[in-house]
Amino acid sequence: MNMLARVRPDLAGFQPYASARRSGLVGTIRLNANESPWSGDGCPTGFNRYPDPQPLALRSDLAALYGVAEDRLWTGRGSDEAIDLLLRGFCRAGRDNVVGLAPSFGMYRIGAQLQGAEYRTLALRAEADFALDPDRLLALADADTKLVILCSPNNPTGELHHDAIGHLAQALAGRALLVVDEAYIEFAGIPSATALLDRYDNLVVLRTLSKAHALAGARIGSLIAHADVARFIGSIAAPYPLPLPCVAAAVAALEPAALERTHARIATLVAERGQLADALARLPRVRRVWPSAANFVLARFDDGPAALERALAAGIVLRDVSAQPGLDDCLRITVGSPYENEALLEALA
Ligand SMILES: *Cc1c(COP(=O)(O)O)cnc(C)c1O
Repeated sequence: MNMLARVRPDLAGFQPYASARRSGLVGTIRLNANESPWSGDGCPTGFNRYPDPQPLALRSDLAALYGVAEDRLWTGRGSDEAIDLLLRGFCRAGRDNVVGLAPSFGMYRIGAQLQGAEYRTLALRAEADFALDPDRLLALADADTKLVILCSPNNPTGELHHDAIGHLAQALAGRALLVVDEAYIEFAGIPSATALLDRYDNLVVLRTLSKAHALAGARIGSLIAHADVARFIGSIAAPYPLPLPCVAAAVAALEPAALERTHARIATLVAERGQLADALARLPRVRRVWPSAANFVLARFDDGPAALERALAAGIVLRDVSAQPGLDDCLRITVGSPYENEALLEALA
């Protein structure tokens, strides 16, 4: 079954805003978008014009990077925008629901709440190392479930859940989208779930340049899905989501030489992650450090707030995740440069 059948019925056949750039008309004198005919003082040329909604060079670079056909890809302002558009496009306010993990990334709940969709979570237990039983996750889904969101590696646990994807996508076929958020997959050393797109047309994969590609400030995230789903998301998005300087930064970061440096940086961070986790685990006031497939580690301290305070006194900011279910006294620690990690270990020793 085509997943567009699960789109909000009031959006069936949705007509997107007919922006000037979408018209596809080409000419040397452009008087169709109320732009300024002149560039602003000190601005690079071309900044007086609206950008391409989905710039060709960036699209083809991202499709190559992720190994997918271009028509499966929609790129917007970070994966955050893709999450928001999935919720808005598929969930009927006050009726539909979304299923996810707890603990997990906080934006799913916020996006669901903004759209008026119920957010149901399966509690993963720290004592079981956050192991996921996919059938218990499926048990939360019903006829009004539109999205099941699987963050893998999961934030903030660092745990991989990719081995559940096939089973979940199969069980949800024709009913709900399985959204796999792979914001940290580059640090996991495993293949992306995009390899399964041919098999499951209800699979959506989210990728971002924010973490491994060092471009959090550029806000470039991609939704990769069945071409119909990708096209629908593009149709409900704002007309010009990608600012010119961000596109230029991303295209530069995806050049072969830059990609090579990115891979070297990823290797450095993965090595640092192992060392940091080991060193943290040896500290007397650390109770547990969980294995992580991402660029952070989750650690439980005897006294979380005290550890947070001690780091802060040394000018080091950590993420307090203790408010999430089952994570009392836990802090999420981003793997930094060797210097930064050393400074943290010294502060906590
Ligand atoms: C950081 C993060 C994102 C946000 O990505 P952007 O592309 O910067 O919006 C998405 N999902 C998870 C799980 C994250 O940790």
